[in-house]
Amino acid sequence: MKKYDETVLQAAYEYIRRRERATHPDGSFDRGGRWYPSEAEERPCCDHIRRPSRAWPYSLMTHCRTLPHVAALYGVDPREVRRAVRDEAWKVLQAQEVLAK
Ligand SMILES: [Zn+2]
Repeated sequence: MKKYDETVLQAAYEYIRRRERATHPDGSFDRGGRWYPSEAEERPCCDHIRRPSRAWPYSLMTHCRTLPHVAALYGVDPREVRRAVRDEAWKVLQAQEVLAK
């Protein structure tokens, strides 16, 4: 199996967990129930996403679970992350986590 950068693996694993709703993007809801990412979570890619509205309160949360956003969050190439996801290379981290318990 191809060797992956540790940060790429972490990004891939975080993407998988966010997709499975095991982890959640960092942010908060306003009084209207609309979700916004925290300063630590927000990246330039988020600027292109439709602002949350009453009809679409989770537009940014949905975006923050996508692979390009998670790659941006970790500062790595989304193509590398996609490869690591496809190879299931992130399972190494999952196994380490299980062993650490
Ligand atoms: Zn983003």
